[in-house]
Amino acid sequence: MSEGSLPSARRELEQRLFSVGSRLAAALPGGMRNPLKAADEKAMELASQDAELKAALFRFVDVVPACRSLDDLARHLTGFLGEVEAPPPPVAVAMRMGNSRAGRTALGAAAAAGVKHMAHRFIVGETPKAALGTLRELWKDGVASSVDLLGEATVTQAEAERYAARCEDALQTLAAATRGWPDRSALERDGAGPLPRANLSVKVSALTPLLRPDAPERGKRDAADRLRRLLRGARELGAHLHIDMESLDSRDAVLELVLELLAEEEFRAGPSAGMVLQAYLRDSPQTLDGVVDWAAGAGAARAHPLTVRLVKGAYWDHEIVEAAQHGWSPPVFEVKADSDRNFEQLTRRLLDARPALRVAIASHNLRSIAHAIAYDELGGGDGSDVELQVLRGLGDPLQQAIAAQGLRVRTYCPVGDLVAGMAYLVRRLLENTSNASFLADQAKGVPLEELLAAPAAAVR
Ligand SMILES: Cc1cc2nc3c(=O)[nH]c(=O)nc-3n(C[C@H](O)[C@H](O)[C@H](O)COP(=O)(O)OP(=O)(O)OC[C@H]3O[C@@H](n4cnc5c(N)ncnc54)[C@H](O)[C@@H]3O)c2cc1C
Repeated sequence: MSEGSLPSARRELEQRLFSVGSRLAAALPGGMRNPLKAADEKAMELASQDAELKAALFRFVDVVPACRSLDDLARHLTGFLGEVEAPPPPVAVAMRMGNSRAGRTALGAAAAAGVKHMAHRFIVGETPKAALGTLRELWKDGVASSVDLLGEATVTQAEAERYAARCEDALQTLAAATRGWPDRSALERDGAGPLPRANLSVKVSALTPLLRPDAPERGKRDAADRLRRLLRGARELGAHLHIDMESLDSRDAVLELVLELLAEEEFRAGPSAGMVLQAYLRDSPQTLDGVVDWAAGAGAARAHPLTVRLVKGAYWDHEIVEAAQHGWSPPVFEVKADSDRNFEQLTRRLLDARPALRVAIASHNLRSIAHAIAYDELGGGDGSDVELQVLRGLGDPLQQAIAAQGLRVRTYCPVGDLVAGMAYLVRRLLENTSNASFLADQAKGVPLEELLAAPAAAVR
């Protein structure tokens, strides 16, 4: 549809979106600086241009935690890079260094430092305590946070217990430390009331080893006691607990579990809590119907409206491969513009559902963010009832631009060691070197008008 043929409300929204997006782009530190380039991410830049190199670097990043010496590290690096047919010049230099022991030691040290540097862009500290300095700095700069404790996949009850105990400890550490933080009114209150400073994101799959698609009730029952413990802890400490969403095979179990527990009598008064809606799922509009019904029914008795974090979804490749293996049609959209368009439709429905729900729009896509702000403004909002969320390391410039507009932004901050961080790191790298990524387009220097253009019309 050309601009001239858009109905007037749509045209008004597109115009407002463009001015909001331009304002945000102008407020990005260093103009249109891209996070992929800003941190001197040579590996990521190179990887996004060369699929073989990308695969080699991913395999390398995966084995780093298991390497015992610099020599070992260099052998793996040159081994993986040796599979690249036409290596770019920096890779060819690395390969030559791999020919001698001294060269391998130097290469191993450089590679270890490189991987650590990359991981530390995404991870704020090894423990919640170690992360407090960064979290406080963010807060001082007008940026709230949600801490995510990285962990390996939980396969035993002991691991699930350990994860739950780490979460309880994190809630206590955050609640105690955040009390001494300076006032930041934009981050602490919205139209529905006060917003907790301490905010923890948790994964249900880490709270139970039994979360399986073929026996969802068992997984739910097993996770319920540990999740209840965390909800009690958050309520007593006045913290917010957010439940992340993972792949589709656990989506229904997670959603039912969260809504059932929050409807229990003992959680009426608190804590503040939230869940995640994934716009890449074709059936996400129906999921939202269910959440809106819940908010009008059982949820209406709660003191804190449920926060819905809208994302596109981080498991796209997994869902496509899983569906292909079973001969199913994919549950996710296969065209990026379809996910983008659905994200915008869900954004508008969520914003219209306030105050029964609190809304958090999580994206690094300038258009997706600008669309939410513009729709809120056209509805008479001043931005205080919409939260914008980014991931640490990917959304740093955007987070600054949003905070500079006086809007509420929250950065998702993973905490954990390098080993635990690997799966997270690989997922972020995969996502952001993909051709369908907004950040990759931004890195290529795609002009602002194109970055802010409406997602292409669906081919029907
Ligand atoms: C604060 C925060 C919390 C998050 N929490 C979660 C969570 O709990 N669960 C979760 O799953 N994700 C979560 N994510 C990740 C999120 O789902 C996205 O993967 C990530 O933000 C990239 O989307 P974007 O809008 O930033 O970028 P864009 O570049 O605009 O979008 C990229 C996304 O588009 C989709 N996509 C890519 N290719 C295609 C295609 N060919 N067809 C259709 N769709 C495609 C994928 O979802 C991909 O991630 C979170 C993100 C943030 C910022």
